[in-house]
Amino acid sequence: MQVYGLIGNPVGHSLSPPMHEAAYEALGLDARYVTFEPPEKEGAAAVESAATLGVAGLNVTIPFKEQVLAAVEPAPLAERVGAVNTVDFGTDPPTGYNTDTAGVTRALAHHDVALDGPAVVVGAGGAGRAAAAALADAGMTVRVANRTVERAEQLAAAVDAGPDGAATAHGLDALPNLLADAAVLVNATSVGMEEDVSPVPADALHADLAVLDAVYSPVETRLLREAVTAGATAVDGAWMLLYQGVEAFERWTGREAPVAVMNDALRARL
Ligand code: NAP
Repeated sequence: MQVYGLIGNPVGHSLSPPMHEAAYEALGLDARYVTFEPPEKEGAAAVESAATLGVAGLNVTIPFKEQVLAAVEPAPLAERVGAVNTVDFGTDPPTGYNTDTAGVTRALAHHDVALDGPAVVVGAGGAGRAAAAALADAGMTVRVANRTVERAEQLAAAVDAGPDGAATAHGLDALPNLLADAAVLVNATSVGMEEDVSPVPADALHADLAVLDAVYSPVETRLLREAVTAGATAVDGAWMLLYQGVEAFERWTGREAPVAVMNDALRARL
């Protein structure tokens, strides 16, 4: 039996176990997905212990995504993001991936969104870093807007330093201008989770835009409702969550993931 899992602190609320176990069942794989809650500073040690125990793959969440870099060989995009959310123990040393990046691009591709032209990423935390790196890697020019402009500047500089870099940094007040000719908008802030508010003015949205909201709780945010009203393509955060899991599954098993089965298992619990 193969053991996969998730390290985080806390991990109790995770939707990954049912999503991955539904995939194992659908493909008849002898595998289990379990959650582990190591002490807060022990991310790298937890990865080393998992390798010793023969764990086949780990997902990694807060507060360990940066810590585990010390225990893996990061793939290029994970290195660029500066965070790992998936460890594959099939290599020595283990390989660290950031599948939140594929979560963004594959969620958009699922909705037939072409990844060319300018993209606007609102937010410069973990999700913002993944979205900006992924969209730049896909060939888009990336405009990062953040409440704290210095963090947007740091992120844009990191993206610019990459092979396909073309990124600029802005405050939130620039959003209407930034969005006027944009093809993609990603909300990578937590705005919309606790209250029915949007980080983007509704009248800045338009029909030529695809809007991905990383927020998945609630699944239907104010931003997405206003995107639909504006005639934009709306992509909810559950698609991003799904495809980061799909990408991890495929890295670990080498099999094509049963996407529809994983999607059903995830949405049944959201
Ligand atoms: P994070 O690292 O803490 O970053 C939070 C971001 O939100 C920062 O850019 C912060 O701006 C901004 N922000 C927070 N409150 C704000 C406010 N009131 N007004 C304007 N900006 C505000 O968090 P994260 O890990 O990137 O997660 C961000 C969101 O993405 C969360 O809702 C999370 O659940 C979601 N997420 C979803 C997926 C998925 O698979 N769907 C994956 C990862 C994350 P400052 O820099 O100015 O503080």
